[in-house]
Amino acid sequence: MSDGARIPFGEREGALYRAHEVDNGLACACLCPACRHPLIAANRGTKVIPYFRHAADSDCVEGFLKGVLLKAREIVLEAQRLLLPAFEETVRDYAYSKVYTREVKLPAAEVVTERIEAPCDEDGLHADLALWIKGRRLLVIFGVAGRSISGKLKPLRETRQASMVVDLTHLELKTIHDPEAFRREVLGNPDNRRWVYSPRGEQEVRRAREALEADEARDLEAIRAKEQEWQRQLQDARRAPAKVPAGDAEHRPVYAPSMPLAASPALPQDHTAMQVRLNERALAIADSYRLVQSHTGGLGRECACCLMASALSDGPCPYCGEVGLFAPLEVTEYLANTILHRLRCTTRPDRSLERVPQLLSQASQADTNEAAPEPGFGG
Ligand SMILES: [Zn+2]
Ligand SMILES: [Zn+2]
Repeated sequence: MSDGARIPFGEREGALYRAHEVDNGLACACLCPACRHPLIAANRGTKVIPYFRHAADSDCVEGFLKGVLLKAREIVLEAQRLLLPAFEETVRDYAYSKVYTREVKLPAAEVVTERIEAPCDEDGLHADLALWIKGRRLLVIFGVAGRSISGKLKPLRETRQASMVVDLTHLELKTIHDPEAFRREVLGNPDNRRWVYSPRGEQEVRRAREALEADEARDLEAIRAKEQEWQRQLQDARRAPAKVPAGDAEHRPVYAPSMPLAASPALPQDHTAMQVRLNERALAIADSYRLVQSHTGGLGRECACCLMASALSDGPCPYCGEVGLFAPLEVTEYLANTILHRLRCTTRPDRSLERVPQLLSQASQADTNEAAPEPGFGG
C-alpha cells in the first residue's frame, strides 16, 4: 500500500486523531477528513506505523492530503506563532565592462501572531491561513503531497501579498505520525519554507538596486572624467608641432586632424602622431555609434572594414565606401555612452585605421541632420 492510501489522521467530532490514539478497526469511529466516509484504524502492527484506511472500497484519494493540511493548520492555530522564511537574493547588473553585485539577506525569524483566520478566501486569493502580525496580514499556504499550489501562488505574487509556503510535500508517514516531529516541521523548520512575496525583502532589494546604481553612477563619472582628460591630451598633442624630417618641412603639410595623415610617410613612425590618429579614430567610431543611437533609434549596421556604425541602408558604407560586409547593430543609450571607453580596451581603432587610413567623411558629417561637427570630434 502506498503512503497515499494510508490516511494519517481520522476525524471524530471535529477533532483529528492519529491511529494509535483510537481503538483498532471500525471501533475508532473516525471519518475520512476528505470524503467523510468511515475509516478503519490499523494500529495493531508492530512493524508498520499506525494508519487509517477507508472501511469500504473508495475512490477517495484526498484523505492523506486533507488530513495533513487540517492538522498543520490546527497546529499553527494552537501555537499562535510561526517561523518566517529567510530571504536571500543577489542583485546583479553588468555595466561598463564590470559586474556589479549586492547581496540581500534577511534571516528566518519567528513571529507571534495577533490573530489567525483559517482558511482565507478573499478577492480571488486563497490561502490556508491568514496571520496578523503587527497589524499586517501574512498569507500561508501548505504544500502537501498530491496538492498543486502553483495556481494559488501566482495571484499572490501578482498582487504583492505578503505570503509564504510551508512545504510539507516530502514528509514521510513516520514524521507525520510523530506529534513532536510534525509540529517542528509545521512551525519551525527553516529549510521547508520560502517566501512567495516578501514586502520587506523586496524593499531591501530595491535599496540594494539603488546602491548598485549609485556605484555605477560613480564609475560612469570616473569614466567620463578620464575621457575628458583623454580628449584634453589629444588637443595638446594636436597643438604640439609634428616632428618632420629636417629639410623636408616646407613640403610637408602642417599636422591637422582633417589632413589625410596616412598619406604622409613620415608620420606613422612618430609615436605621438600615431597615438593622435588612433585616438581620433576611436572618437570617430564612438561618434558614429552616438549618431546611430540618437538619429535612427539605435538600429544600424557595422562596417566590417572600417568598423564604423551607420544607419541601416543598402548603400555603401558612408565612411569607407565598402559595399558588402555589414553586421546588424543595435546601439542602446548605454552602449553609446560607453563605446569610447570600450574601444580603448580593444584594438578596433588600430584595425580600422590599418584598413581605412582615411575616412571618406567624419561621423558627425555622415548624418544629414547634423551639419556641424559634434563637440569633441574633429577639433
Ligand atoms: Zn476519503
Ligand atoms: Zn566602412
